Amino acid sequence: MSDVALLQGVRAALAHPQGHYIDGQAVTGNGDAFPVINPATGQTLAEVRAADGAQADAAMEAASAALAGWQAMPTLARGTLLLKLADALAAHREELAQLESLCSGKTLMLARMLEIEQSVAFLRYFAGWAGKISGETLDVSLPSFNGEKYTAFTRRQPVGVVVGIIPWNFSIMIAIWKLAAALVCGCTVVLKPSEFTPLTLLRVAELATGCGIPPGVINVVNGDGKTLGPRLIAHPHCAKVSFTGSVVTGQAVSQAAMAGGKRVTLELGGKNAALFLEDMEVDAIVNGIIEAGYLNQGQICAAAECFYLPVGKMDPVLAALRQRLEAMRIGSPLDEGTEMGPVANRPQYEKLLNLFAQARQEGSEIICGGYALDRDGYYIAPTAIRVTDPQATLMREETFGPVGTFIAYENDADALALINASPSGLAASVWTHDMAKALRYSEQLEAGMVWINMHTFLDPAVPFGGMKDSGIGREFGSAFIEDYTNLKSVMVRY
Ligand code: NDP
Repeated sequence: MSDVALLQGVRAALAHPQGHYIDGQAVTGNGDAFPVINPATGQTLAEVRAADGAQADAAMEAASAALAGWQAMPTLARGTLLLKLADALAAHREELAQLESLCSGKTLMLARMLEIEQSVAFLRYFAGWAGKISGETLDVSLPSFNGEKYTAFTRRQPVGVVVGIIPWNFSIMIAIWKLAAALVCGCTVVLKPSEFTPLTLLRVAELATGCGIPPGVINVVNGDGKTLGPRLIAHPHCAKVSFTGSVVTGQAVSQAAMAGGKRVTLELGGKNAALFLEDMEVDAIVNGIIEAGYLNQGQICAAAECFYLPVGKMDPVLAALRQRLEAMRIGSPLDEGTEMGPVANRPQYEKLLNLFAQARQEGSEIICGGYALDRDGYYIAPTAIRVTDPQATLMREETFGPVGTFIAYENDADALALINASPSGLAASVWTHDMAKALRYSEQLEAGMVWINMHTFLDPAVPFGGMKDSGIGREFGSAFIEDYTNLKSVMVRY
């Protein structure tokens, strides 16, 4: 197999320095240039000139100026524009997937299926909310002395300009979650992609303008998160921040937002657990582990990192898993036959190598992997590590890589206690044929999302978000309405 040929549009996007998308136009940055590195080669792919403070402010001004026109548009017309954007993404699926695969190391197949096709599905789902976001009428109990009557109703009004801060693992799809929710509620957005994946969202914004979404409704600014992020959050026009990323950065974002009295939703990482009960067969467990832990090189916020197995199942499962992981086709993300590409960037690569060294130091058993491949780029062998100490570093530190940590349990209650001792609570899964047991676990597991006999899959109709350190607020379903609108009460005497 070999790499697919890059489309002309992709080559053109890489050929000249990229910047930002502000008020319906691509603009060059006034700040320092930074390289976009292809994680499959370690080589520079393209160059981006960062936004300076004035450009960040210009994006916020553009988003604010666009609010009135966007809100004046009939709601269904806004929904229709989101549908058009969905169609445009579908029509440019290959171009966007190639660009994203180059920047992030995601396999082209996954970029097509998850980044683009899921983004299209989410856009269509959110477009369907147009015309359905409404308040309610309320029964008022105030006394009437002279025959006067009372009534009250609530309205859902857009919060205003939303700052969306996006990580590198799904730079299109996570941006679409925020953008679509904001736009259907009547908000406008300024999106800040990760410095590692700054290109594709620029093209999405350009496509949005081509669909008729007015200038200023979607703006994209690139640059260093530590300077640009706080500047956008502190801007007087910022009404709400929607952040996805690490716990540490999320806490800083939350403090900055709260200090300015801005609303904030945080979708943060975690140390997600997959619990396999005694009745599961070895083959089914291994399939479940691959689904839960190794998709996109494990770089999925909801992916499982800790696998809890009954003592008696541990050895046969690890033997079979090792065979499967060692047989994985690792290679260029642009090769359609590749099952696993590189991790997305050098910091991620170095973090994983450090964690492996620490695991060895602590006496954990490396079942397979635990090393970098001897080739250019940031390739890490799919890894399985058995630990016996629940306090081991790998039981606490999020790896965000193709690494499963395996711990045996004697009885279900011990496993549950261990899982719930984690400070994070984004997602968990329980695997069993005993549905009564599974439903009990779904109540007891402290996670915002619990899967039964599945893991990782998200659906636009099902709310998603974390408990404990893993976040505040929920995306999808109807839950997003709370976050992107103000609830206004109107009381009337007549
Ligand atoms: P970060 O949390 O560091 O970055 C996420 C986004 O926040 C990026 O756009 C980043 O910009 C921006 N940012 C950085 N500092 C600030 C700040 N002070 N204020 C506002 N925005 C800021 O995550 P990384 O991308 O570095 O990934 C590291 C870890 O995050 C992963 O190993 C994983 O643990 C976790 N993660 C979790 C995800 C989830 O979905 N829950 C998704 C991705 C990562 P810039 O890139 O320019 O620094």
